[in-house]
Amino acid sequence: MRIGHGYDVHALREGLPMWLGGIRIDSEKGFVAHSDGDVAIHALCDALLGALALGDIGAHFPDTDERWKGIDSKKLLAAVMEKVRDAGYELGNADITIALQAPKLRGRIDEMRRTLAGVMAADPGRVSVKASTTERLGFVGRGEGCEVWASVLLLKSKPTTE
Ligand code: MG
Repeated sequence: MRIGHGYDVHALREGLPMWLGGIRIDSEKGFVAHSDGDVAIHALCDALLGALALGDIGAHFPDTDERWKGIDSKKLLAAVMEKVRDAGYELGNADITIALQAPKLRGRIDEMRRTLAGVMAADPGRVSVKASTTERLGFVGRGEGCEVWASVLLLKSKPTTE
């Protein structure tokens, strides 16, 4: 078994589309980013890479590379899962916590779980997404950004030469 943890923050700006947990969220603000800014997927990717000591998402998909400009982060997650499987591991489970003041995400959580599980070719029962506000405290509470933490457990699925 391998355990991994990921963390990411993106700033919010009015007039940008909000992609979060692999789905489009109806919001007046979206994330400032080189990619589509899906901060939940970025934290999840870092947790998966971290579990295998493979560095971080910035090392694999640098924001200076035009190939990743505006990219759908689900493609990054799929690529990271391929690395996980190449290393001989499968997803045990993932647990993601999103801190966002607005909009409320409660009604969209299951859609995020199903979408992320689909990209990872995993059972949605293995993917948890939770959302919280910060009671208007800090940069999240002021609506300036979104903060996400992700934890994953990977299970060895096949022997490797490593
Ligand atoms: Mg990011």
